[in-house]
Amino acid sequence: MQKPFEIEDFVVIDETAPVANDTHGGRAKCLQRLIRLDLPVPLTVALSFATVRRLASGGQVDTAAILRNFGAAPLVSVRPSSEDPDWGGPGAILNIGMNDARHAELANLLGHAAADRLYVRFVQTYSVQVARLDPDSFEAPDDPDGSTLTAMLDAYEAEMDEPFPQDPARQLSDVLKSMARAWEGTSARLLRQARGAPAEAGLGLVVQRMAPGMGPPESGSGVIQFVSSDTGLPQITGRYLGQSQGRDALFDESAVYLTRDPRGPSLEEMYPEGFDRLMQYGATCRQRLKEEMQIEFALDAGRLSVLDAVRVQRTARAAVRIAVAMAEDGAIEREEAVLRIEPGFLAHLMHRQVDQKAARDVIATGVAASPGAATGRIVFTSAAAQAAAARGEATILVRRETSPEDIRGMHAAHAVLTERGGMTSHAAMVARGLGLPGVVGAHGIALNRRARTLTTPDGRVLNEGDLVTVDGTTGTVLAGAVPLLEPNLDDSFRTLLHWADEVRDIGVRANADTYAEAKMALTFEAEGIGLCRTEHMFFEEDRLTLMREMIFAETAEGRAASLERLVPMQVADFCKLFEVMAGRPVCIRLFDPPLHEFLPQSRDGLRDLADAMGLPLSRVTRRVEALSEFNPMLGLRGVRLGITMPEIYEAQARAIFTATIESSTPEMPVVPEIMIPLVSAKREVELVRGRIEGIAAAVRSETGASFDYRLGVMVETPRAALRAGEIAPHVSFLSFGTNDLTQMTYGLSRDDAGRFMSVYVQQGIFTEDPFHRLDVEGVGELLQLGASRGRAVRPDMKLSICGEHGGDPESIAFCRAAGFDYVSCSPFRVPGARLAAAQLAL
Ligand code: PEP
Ligand code: MG
Repeated sequence: MQKPFEIEDFVVIDETAPVANDTHGGRAKCLQRLIRLDLPVPLTVALSFATVRRLASGGQVDTAAILRNFGAAPLVSVRPSSEDPDWGGPGAILNIGMNDARHAELANLLGHAAADRLYVRFVQTYSVQVARLDPDSFEAPDDPDGSTLTAMLDAYEAEMDEPFPQDPARQLSDVLKSMARAWEGTSARLLRQARGAPAEAGLGLVVQRMAPGMGPPESGSGVIQFVSSDTGLPQITGRYLGQSQGRDALFDESAVYLTRDPRGPSLEEMYPEGFDRLMQYGATCRQRLKEEMQIEFALDAGRLSVLDAVRVQRTARAAVRIAVAMAEDGAIEREEAVLRIEPGFLAHLMHRQVDQKAARDVIATGVAASPGAATGRIVFTSAAAQAAAARGEATILVRRETSPEDIRGMHAAHAVLTERGGMTSHAAMVARGLGLPGVVGAHGIALNRRARTLTTPDGRVLNEGDLVTVDGTTGTVLAGAVPLLEPNLDDSFRTLLHWADEVRDIGVRANADTYAEAKMALTFEAEGIGLCRTEHMFFEEDRLTLMREMIFAETAEGRAASLERLVPMQVADFCKLFEVMAGRPVCIRLFDPPLHEFLPQSRDGLRDLADAMGLPLSRVTRRVEALSEFNPMLGLRGVRLGITMPEIYEAQARAIFTATIESSTPEMPVVPEIMIPLVSAKREVELVRGRIEGIAAAVRSETGASFDYRLGVMVETPRAALRAGEIAPHVSFLSFGTNDLTQMTYGLSRDDAGRFMSVYVQQGIFTEDPFHRLDVEGVGELLQLGASRGRAVRPDMKLSICGEHGGDPESIAFCRAAGFDYVSCSPFRVPGARLAAAQLAL
């Protein structure tokens, strides 16, 4: 693509200079904006990405020419300017140009102390960061003087066999080269890629006239911002330090507050005019740059300079509050606020937290790397986490440290705990990205992968499968399950999502099986339930046996007996769901129990079942063997169960209709949606539909009540998608179950894919795990075919997706483009889906 202007090696930034984010980096562009706002930015020269790249590979740039812009005896700083400030870059280097002559001049001008400190600082940074000498030899006391300077210059000469370079042009050239090379280094590359930068991301550099911040009063430097990074609420934060440079004030205990503070002196009291001007600059940035900025400033004998401004760092909570507050003040449009928040970010606000009132048995502590809390069984490998997730079990992935191979395991786990690492280590960054509670760097825990044990610092030994709670908000690991508090979402979160709802044009429902999940779905303002997996209503210990009795009954009479007990439970469950959803749509899926999930696995399980059924163990064992399948995911499940044992779906239909009548009021009639799973043939639908209609008629005549309902099919087999045209006349909606559809399209077991998925992704065979992100090319084509064939027959056919993909922004984009009515995803993903959907519509 042709650039709108020729890019020179370097350019003096003024109001019209040709600098852009993608040629000179975000810092250069931001400085230009500050200049346009008339802020007192010292003269700045920007070097382009191309120039820096050339420098990194041994090329030259005319540094004497750069310095000529700064007049005689210049003193300058160099800062990195990457395209996105979050991608980082090498540390700033200040006071370039200091040499013996300049030192003598400045001693006259600013005093000896200031001149010594400026020169010491430069020799120190140059020696360590540019010449790469041992930092221990260049440690400076807090109050360096002439002798410190002499010692440092001597140390430099001794190490380098040459005196400290005196020529400013050479100094600048060495600084620029070393920063350019640092950017190309492997660790810098990995770090920025982990922050989302492309491999070939460029670096610009800005050379700026120093505002020394040292000399006659009032001289110093500081950093100020006008909102809290934690909460996003208005709050003046930052520090100021006299006789200092750069960000010194942030790290020095003698720094003063900015605004009046009972804890100590403040800049506002010491130098009110400067403070007032900073306040005005903050307001100007907010209004004109449409962003809350953190401003780095310097005072030189009372003259204020703005050296730099960066977007205020912010937590997810602060990000939402800032965006909403700016839109409410009219600084930005509401749509802009909606666009500013990454949908994945919302997860940070929505996680459970440990109830602080609960008893806590702390077994390890570490860095609070990712907020939220989760309870689960410990596993030591990603494969174990994935296998457990496929069984619907919550796990805590415990690793020494994580690597990209662990990402799939982290997706599957409910929290992550690592022995090593810190706030920016892989585990921490990935966990935050996923909204997964995480504690990293839990020093003192010892992992033994072979024995599958974790030894805590106080000597307790935990085995794989033991229950722990990870509290990523406080950085602690607790023994066992601990009461957790549901997330507390503040007004700005809700406001932002309401704005999102105003613009989005695809519905968002939740997958919720139980009353508790339905309540959670409502907290997140789902429009209804898109998938209630009725067999999950029987996962609890005391109900599981009943479900098993029904499945293992050998005769229709036996089955009828267990159904008789099961139906009232279902009626009560459905009534509660209808009640909590208060007129919102509820889509109930008829039983779809893959037999391997419901077969008793152990001898104890078999004995319990024998007890419950009053049968000898040998008979139950034989029955279980007879029912065992080689391929349960492709076996007797879904509608196949409904066809071969019709009384099961009939009983469920009766339960749904009974609950419908009980829960309906004249003002708010319940209209349940009933969904048939795992369909592959039209005839299956015809048969089930006929029976459900029969039950509806029977219930109507038995009760004299009238009610309505809708029937739909889950498209989970490729054949159902291909034959959607002939299924369509029988149903009013199609819901794509993309978990099974992905499994069957790829011929890839949901339960086993984790064993080799990472190899496939690493080798680029799959760009992403198709169980996380919809495979738009293959599975997507089936979605499109099914949708268009269904709608060709029934133009009013409701279309939706209810597999895991329903919460993924890219998959939502696909469904929206394909004309779907809604997506349905787990309750915690609902806010992200609402926001992602809105962003697509803008
Ligand atoms: C699906 O297959 O996509 C689906 C939603 O059903 P389940 O995950 O229960 O098989
Ligand atoms: Mg399914």
